[in-house]
Amino acid sequence: MANRKELDILFKATKISKSFGDFKANIDIDISIKKGEIHALLGENGAGKSTLVKIFYGVLKPDFGTIEVNNHIVNISSPKSARDNGIGMVFQHFSLFPALTVAENIFIALDKKIIFKNLISEISSLSKEWELFIDPMRLVSELSVGEQQRVEIIRCLMQNPKLLIMDEPTSVLTPQEIENLFKILKRLSSSGCSILYISHKLEEIIELADQVTILKSGKCVSTLNAKTTSTKELAETMVGKKIIKLKKSSVIDNSKNVALEVINLNKIKDNNFGITLKNINLKINYGEILGVAGIAGNGQIELMEMLSGEAICENNDEILLDNIPIGATNITSRRKLGIEPIPEERTLHATVPNLAMNHNTFLTYYYKYQNTKNFFSNFLINPQNSLEESNKIIKDNDVRCPEPNPLANQLSGGNLQKFILGRSMANDPKVAIFSQPTWGVDIGAATSIRQKLLNLSQKGKAIILISQDLEEIFELSDKVCVINNGVLSDILSVNEMSASDVGLLMGANVNNLKKSEIL
Ligand code: ADP
Ligand code: MG
Repeated sequence: MANRKELDILFKATKISKSFGDFKANIDIDISIKKGEIHALLGENGAGKSTLVKIFYGVLKPDFGTIEVNNHIVNISSPKSARDNGIGMVFQHFSLFPALTVAENIFIALDKKIIFKNLISEISSLSKEWELFIDPMRLVSELSVGEQQRVEIIRCLMQNPKLLIMDEPTSVLTPQEIENLFKILKRLSSSGCSILYISHKLEEIIELADQVTILKSGKCVSTLNAKTTSTKELAETMVGKKIIKLKKSSVIDNSKNVALEVINLNKIKDNNFGITLKNINLKINYGEILGVAGIAGNGQIELMEMLSGEAICENNDEILLDNIPIGATNITSRRKLGIEPIPEERTLHATVPNLAMNHNTFLTYYYKYQNTKNFFSNFLINPQNSLEESNKIIKDNDVRCPEPNPLANQLSGGNLQKFILGRSMANDPKVAIFSQPTWGVDIGAATSIRQKLLNLSQKGKAIILISQDLEEIFELSDKVCVINNGVLSDILSVNEMSASDVGLLMGANVNNLKKSEIL
């Protein structure tokens, strides 16, 4: 008979292994979760966390290993069978349809048959009960990311889960939304629902979790009691070495020249889900980092498009580089002039997922190879001549690859980001524009990416850092502003703004973001 301890265990996975080709993403992983326990899953990028929870939710099939729910071995062959076993999941990248309403999105994902009208009242009552306020009739495209997450959580709650899995739920939320989410998770856990929670944020894990399992290179290296561990111990166990602190020089040099200037830039949105940029003004000097904070979906993508030259300004003098108008030039011309965009979407924007790294180097910077000997071979353009450079980028930037010259989609998020950054820096830009550079990247890779940004600014480069991560903004920036509904706030020195000032500007509902008018 099962002893008392085993009766407390809701979910137990034993010796879970999963390979992609020759690459072992999960190796003999054991994890057990008690009823009502909040169990965190921590690990560097590429450690195998998402793979593991996809196995638990039936999205991936393990090569080996068993899963038990309530002491019975179960076969989780699909998400539906996961849900039948009481397992719900909120994904890292949401799976909602923007053109449908909240209720329609929930309706199409439900296993049980329910009359649409009853569904709406069920959503309303769940949303009241759990303080996950959401109007079931609103279009998902009109919701903030935090609100979209509420929809996903409600959708899970409707299935009465015994185990709720969340893959990096807070990387997209404001501090206020995070607080709210934690309240809900704590309430869920005290009502007996277990939670498996992936996060890169160590403080969060300490605050929220009971237990924490740490993965490294596909293996489980440790399970610790979150109540007695420290952020330092977590970080060091995860990375397997001592964490180096960021080095920032505090000297502010007023003699620096203006690198990039944006003057009264306007851009009307070109699709229903876009944001109109309204009279954007900004100025950045060489050697400075300008942080642009804001909740996703407030014009960051559009701003990036305008600055990079993916979208072209109506007037050439809406953007100046070294005092010379460049607003009407395209992305390749701007790259040649020294402006490097490092976009938010690593796959499908910064890279083509099913092309090899050298092809990805070639496609972005084909003009660099135009004068090389083998540019044309057999009347075709030959990407081989970028192999040497792409291998150098991989080596110089500690990009960990499962094989030589892999496809972009074979790399983990953090490693792909290191590659993209290295590829841009090989151009020795004057101005680098980063959008969410450490989104979903583990603390080890994030620290190395942030240190690179600081080093670049200390070398005199101008850096625009568009980020939702306030800690990152404050850690790196010399000056800060906020983008909210296509409007850019005043730019102030970091010493003049606190994180809560920025949080207020991010959440404010205004058309004119003057600090003095809001704070
Ligand atoms: P984490 O969520 O911890 O960042 P993942 O579980 O997403 O890591 O990835 C673990 C490793 O498995 C990574 O190195 C990644 O490149 C690899 N991997 C993930 N999915 C696939 C796939 N479909 N094909 C090949 N390799 C993959
Ligand atoms: Mg992941």
